[in-house]
Amino acid sequence: MRRLRAILVWGERMRYWKRYYIVYVLLAAFCCGSVMLAGQRLRAVSAELAPVRPVVVIDPGHGGFDGGAVSPGGTAESALNLEISLRLRDLCALLGLQTRMLREDDSSLELDSNARISEKKVSDLRHRTQIVNGIPGAVLVSIHQNSFPQGPKYRGAQVFYADTPGSQALAELLQQAICRDLDPDNHRACKQSRDVYLMEQLQGTGILLECGFLTNAAEEALLKTPDYQKKLACTAACVLCTYCSGAG
Ligand SMILES: [Zn+2]
Repeated sequence: MRRLRAILVWGERMRYWKRYYIVYVLLAAFCCGSVMLAGQRLRAVSAELAPVRPVVVIDPGHGGFDGGAVSPGGTAESALNLEISLRLRDLCALLGLQTRMLREDDSSLELDSNARISEKKVSDLRHRTQIVNGIPGAVLVSIHQNSFPQGPKYRGAQVFYADTPGSQALAELLQQAICRDLDPDNHRACKQSRDVYLMEQLQGTGILLECGFLTNAAEEALLKTPDYQKKLACTAACVLCTYCSGAG
């Protein structure tokens, strides 16, 4: 009799379980799903908060088919840009900074070398922009030489900055260092960059350094000397080191 009663109780329990088991299964699935989703969100937030090590991306302006500005004496901007950039790369590496060069020889970065010059120019700039924006933690330094075709009256390095976080602060640091340590006669202030495609499309921190005026003969001669190139690169590398140690 006791056994029969136990069987009936067990049967009742089973009926109860069968009636509600789908609810339990759905509840368990919901709990597991929530835990997995919370885990995914947590991982995404941690990845966002994790500091990205800065990468100094050095862009020697122009190159290949595009020589950039040319001095009255025939010095092409692209060659000087590359010489200074290579020195900057080596000094940054010496200071322990991660670096990336957009070009390391006299070449351009357009994707279709058979296109017309104007199309190649657009393609080159778009490609540079694409590369920089694809590097996590990129701190762009675009190296150029200035010119004033109307005459030799202007001289002095000037830094331009993108309208992105950190760019103005970096530009101010570099402009101050140039005026203080390298060229006390330079009283220029840094400025926000206007109408420069790469700087306008940039997503991260970026500055453009106009190292000096090729249309001023004395400055052109100075910019061509390895000694001045080293001093300029050293000034920029030290500033980048200071900036990146705070940014990382
Ligand atoms: Zn240029």
